[in-house]
Amino acid sequence: MVDAFELRTAGQANVKTVTILGATGSVGTSTLDIIRQAPEAFQVVALTAQSNAAKLAELARAYRAKFAVIGDTSRYAELRDLLAGTGIEVAAGPEALVAAAEMPADCVVAAITGAAGLAPTFAAAGKGRRLALANKECLVAAGDVFMSAIRESGTELVPIDSEHSGAFQLLKDNNTRAVERIILTASGGPFRDWDLDRLATATPEAALKHPKWSMGPKISIDSATLMNKGLELIEAYHLFPVEARQIEVVVHPQSIIHCLVMFQDGSMLAQMSCPDMRIPISVGLAWPERLQSPVERVDLVKLQSLTFEAPDLTRFPALTLAREALERGGTAPAILNAANEVAVEGFLARRLSFLDITRTVATCLNRAEQAGMIKLPQTLEDVLEADGAGRQLARDVIGA
Ligand code: NAD
Ligand code: MG
Repeated sequence: MVDAFELRTAGQANVKTVTILGATGSVGTSTLDIIRQAPEAFQVVALTAQSNAAKLAELARAYRAKFAVIGDTSRYAELRDLLAGTGIEVAAGPEALVAAAEMPADCVVAAITGAAGLAPTFAAAGKGRRLALANKECLVAAGDVFMSAIRESGTELVPIDSEHSGAFQLLKDNNTRAVERIILTASGGPFRDWDLDRLATATPEAALKHPKWSMGPKISIDSATLMNKGLELIEAYHLFPVEARQIEVVVHPQSIIHCLVMFQDGSMLAQMSCPDMRIPISVGLAWPERLQSPVERVDLVKLQSLTFEAPDLTRFPALTLAREALERGGTAPAILNAANEVAVEGFLARRLSFLDITRTVATCLNRAEQAGMIKLPQTLEDVLEADGAGRQLARDVIGA
């Protein structure tokens, strides 16, 4: 239990101060688990959540956070009462989330899910320290605008998404100009061997049961449609110095190899580990150091074999859609992402069938193109506007 956790105070050499945006989620709690195992190395500054005040209060107390911020203002009083007398400062609302992201900290872990993470992640990106990035939707929707903000502020960006953490580790000590291909692996999700008829009947419960990873609901559904890998393709394009055509996806059901890099001399390097997010998060927190981690080790003999197959683009067209949106450029990826978020919500609320998720996104992209809505975004506001337009298109398509 985290209650007994005692964090040494700052001021010690080598203590890293950390803020976690989205602390109550899957990535957020995995991050705190790492911090719990290395209390001498980290001090928590701010923790944020959207609506679960009880969990946020419990984590803020256990990890001696200085600030606890809840996105939903109607939960402010609950959070304030739960933390009364602790000395932990409490705030609520979208501006408070941005303020938490801007607080001085050596590392900000950006783990809010979806485009809701855009403003706080941008705020964190403008401060010239380390940003450990889990929120892939930010890179997808805001790509070039986000990367310009990172470069201009001198922020050190370390990806936490496992495939991108793999590529990051593989490329750090290598000549990136000699990269021929980056190969992202996909587990194939829970429906890897389902035919189209069966996919048409897939329920949210079945889609949420990922065979290899334990994750939040939105990314779990994205993994079932393979939109997650489509978003990751766009993410990789912005993170690494390669063209879209140099990024490939291969289905690898064991999820032991997360990424491979092929160099122009034909040499191929792979990053391997058990599918546990605490490994890429540890890299995000400690790089270039390595933390001692309790996670299961890969046992090659027990594994016996690693298998690979090409993704089936007929059953999982989301991958093609994402590639097309990347090639179209401008706000097309922001619209893809926004429409996908609305469609995933519709599926989880049983208003949309599984196959309709990707169909909805395709229809939205077509309508956006026909209406001349795809533009070149210059600022975060432009991206947020495209995100809003993409959401409205999807609501119109779904009839919500
Ligand atoms: P999750 O749903 O488990 O947690 C999301 C967190 O964000 C929670 O703390 C929640 O309170 C907060 N949040 C949700 N909506 C918000 C809003 N509107 N405003 C402010 N805060 C809000 O999600 P997760 O699985 O931890 O994923 C987080 C991010 O990391 C996503 O972008 C996902 O794509 C990425 N990611 C996750 C994994 C994984 O293994 N879970 C792997 C790779 C990348
Ligand atoms: Mg991933």
